[in-house]
Amino acid sequence: MKAIILLGPPGSGKGSVAEVLTDDGYIHISTGELLRQQIRQGTEIGKKAASLMDQGVFVPDEMVVGMIRDVLENATPDQCFLFDGFPRTRIQAEKFDELIHQMNVDLTAVILLNCPDQVIVDRLGGRRTCPTCGAVYHLTHVPPQKEGLCDQDGATLVARPDDAPETVQARLDVYAKQTEPLIGFYQEKGLIRPVNSALPIDEVRANVLLELAK
Ligand code: AMP
Repeated sequence: MKAIILLGPPGSGKGSVAEVLTDDGYIHISTGELLRQQIRQGTEIGKKAASLMDQGVFVPDEMVVGMIRDVLENATPDQCFLFDGFPRTRIQAEKFDELIHQMNVDLTAVILLNCPDQVIVDRLGGRRTCPTCGAVYHLTHVPPQKEGLCDQDGATLVARPDDAPETVQARLDVYAKQTEPLIGFYQEKGLIRPVNSALPIDEVRANVLLELAK
């Protein structure tokens, strides 16, 4: 089994990069999306996660580590995973290290998406998502074909509660405090591949592929 990690602040384009990399055979695992699925299904995990997520703070480490353990335990040796939004804390990174060691997973790269705060605030302010299937749009950069409706299933698009401007700032603060230190953690392992993600998505994708080919 192989894995790469997408590391970067909220709104830096992890989801968009992941979407295009799935065309290259990667299996996209977004812990945020897994948690939103649990909320939609009304599970115990979903109930515990919902209010924390709405405030822009992290859910407990053991909750996301458990979800990642389940993914790896159900995987086959030929699979290649792309982790988006995990790990986000030092403890998660250490637990992940233990897991990949036990399960023989080869972590080949950590793509670091660099993006200025102003671009992030614009992206998240205009982001709209489908409450049914999770598809992501932007009011001006990636509009749906019919205004306000999902291209996939026609559901009415909504703004994520945690994309409200005051919550975005809280998420950026949490990222700076808890997740940014992981850059050093993975730099020491020689895995960090920095990419400028403020560029148009096609260029970001091309640069990510270049970094992965190094
Ligand atoms: P995302 O979709 O990646 O922006 O994640 C949305 C929210 O889910 C975050 O603001 C957190 O509340 C929660 N979340 C997602 N991944 C993690 C994680 N690895 N650790 C803790 N909380 C997470």
